[in-house]
Amino acid sequence: MPHVMNTYARLPVTFSHGNGCRVTDVEGREYLDALSGIAVSTLGHAHPKLVAAIAEQAARLLHTSNLYTISEQEELADKLASLSGMEEIFFCNSGCEANEAAIKLARFYGHRKGVDLPTIIVMEKAFHGRTMATLSATGNRKAQAGFEPLVSGFVRVPYNDLEAIKAVAEHNRNVVAVMFEVIQGEGGIHLAAPDFQRGLRQLCDEHGWLLICDEVQCGMARTGKWFGYQHAGIRPDVVTLAKGLGSGVPIGACMVSGQAAGLFAPGNHGSTFGGNPLACRAALTTIATIEEDHLMLNAEIVGGEIRSLMAEALAGVKGLVEIRGHGLMIGIELDRPCGELVGKGLAAGLLINVTADKVIRLLPPLIFGKKEAKELVDRITPLIKDFLAA
Ligand SMILES: *Cc1c(COP(=O)(O)O)cnc(C)c1O
Repeated sequence: MPHVMNTYARLPVTFSHGNGCRVTDVEGREYLDALSGIAVSTLGHAHPKLVAAIAEQAARLLHTSNLYTISEQEELADKLASLSGMEEIFFCNSGCEANEAAIKLARFYGHRKGVDLPTIIVMEKAFHGRTMATLSATGNRKAQAGFEPLVSGFVRVPYNDLEAIKAVAEHNRNVVAVMFEVIQGEGGIHLAAPDFQRGLRQLCDEHGWLLICDEVQCGMARTGKWFGYQHAGIRPDVVTLAKGLGSGVPIGACMVSGQAAGLFAPGNHGSTFGGNPLACRAALTTIATIEEDHLMLNAEIVGGEIRSLMAEALAGVKGLVEIRGHGLMIGIELDRPCGELVGKGLAAGLLINVTADKVIRLLPPLIFGKKEAKELVDRITPLIKDFLAA
């Protein structure tokens, strides 16, 4: 009897090592990684700068706890603040924890304003995590089923629908925040329109609500800017990060500014592991390498290249609904459920993903080059064509 709990439908492959954009399984077969362990391996595999930094840090100091000052954490907070326009940062270990902190903070903010039952507006098809509060904020009934009672204090509206939010504002006096993903990853690579984001910012200002951006998947340079909201030219009050932040070393962050800053005091929130020297060093090295190697620009260029090559290769193919995305966050929507393409990709030496049943999701490492882009398109195109022709 297997002892790993059955929470994932795992593919029958085990990897032994990786290098750059490629990983090798225990039988010696090589795969092109167009998924990055779900937008995590920002620098690909075994990046020499990250390997050296982690080894050096591990040999010096791994963990001390937040009972003490941590210089790597302070340095990372300064760096993230300068990149994001945020003012204060709480460090944790994952995306759901970052969102959990944001939700607690929004409630705390509400109580300060005299709102006894603070409510957060969330979106249809949203994904915010698997803890009880973030699961409740998530817009996926399948993920929630069996875990009721859910956490109260959320109202749901359609994505990209400002009018629906205005309608909630009219009758619900308990709203204290709006939480959304600039690009919905798990929901199927859906992009928030820049006008929607600017409208949200304005609504939040008018009503004194916090604007919370979940950038756990689309943040950290993946879209060609450090954070997705920067494309729309807005500044949220709260931004959450995780996945790509540590390039594979677990770390999450809840970043706040303006009226969301200065709320928490000692005792209000915490994490034993959060922001430990190792994780912060990994994040600092990830950021420095993105800067030194111009990976933000690379994400924009190579992402555009993949989308245009895909559009060319699939032009006129019946069953293709849309190719969309931003930078190296790409969705190819088909007109039918296509989960089987993941296994077919694996057989063809390709790591890809399918989300929301019908959307092929590509999240390559930010070091992906034009050569890898072409290889990816050349290998994935026949799989999609054969699948749609069957
Ligand atoms: C993955 C994801 C989360 C949850 O992150 P975990 O690290 O798995 O807890 C939250 N929000 C978004 C947008 C995500 O993509």
